[in-house]
Amino acid sequence: MDDQATIEADRMVKTQLVDRGVCDPAVLQAMRAVPRHRFVPQVSIQRAYSDHALALEFGQTISQPYIVAHMTELLAVRPGMTVLEIGTGSGYQTAILAHLGAHVVTIERSAELLDCARTILADVCPGAPGAGAPIRMLLADGTLGHIQEAPYDRILVTAAAPAVPDAYRQQLADPGRLVIPLGDRDSQILAVIDKLGDHFTRTDDIACRFVPLVGEDGWSPD
Ligand code: SAH
Repeated sequence: MDDQATIEADRMVKTQLVDRGVCDPAVLQAMRAVPRHRFVPQVSIQRAYSDHALALEFGQTISQPYIVAHMTELLAVRPGMTVLEIGTGSGYQTAILAHLGAHVVTIERSAELLDCARTILADVCPGAPGAGAPIRMLLADGTLGHIQEAPYDRILVTAAAPAVPDAYRQQLADPGRLVIPLGDRDSQILAVIDKLGDHFTRTDDIACRFVPLVGEDGWSPD
């Protein structure tokens, strides 16, 4: 990263993450290292490291840095784990997961956003998308998961669901963890769902606000 971006990323990590309780060193390091300004639209580049969600194209958003870090910490990713991410969006969260050493399968329903994220990730991430690389990027309805590469140690959903899609319970490894915003279209609770044997345990975390998860086992389009 250039000097200015490094300064801004360091400040973001301290004031927005550490001061609010994010403490996993690997997560903090990933948030410092991944150049967030590369993933935001050109018009928002001056605000790339600010304490806000930012608009992407097609009414979608790149989450606030704190939400990305907090969700990633809740997910408890370790190197070598396989992670299914639903809602690639800008690809920023994908890059954070890859930086943590996860094998990421990410699904996006918008072809335009996926193409844009693919170009940026190929440039920014050491394990660029391609044959044998740790990031797999798929254009599909993510409410159905992706059975071909299941089970997943972790599933992270970055769009708001009315209820947990069946596919996620089935495609989670045992033990496994799912982090998903659950609620209505306008406000949700971040839920952490742990799978152990036949049991699923739900722990509710903070209130949050995500764009809707639109698909067969999610919300219908407007
Ligand atoms: N994690 C992203 C932000 C995602 S915004 C980032 O870091 O930038 C939510 C994304 O979920 C949007 O891009 C939206 O198009 C996508 N989405 C919504 N429903 C989906 C579905 N059923 N399958 C895959 N992607 C979906």
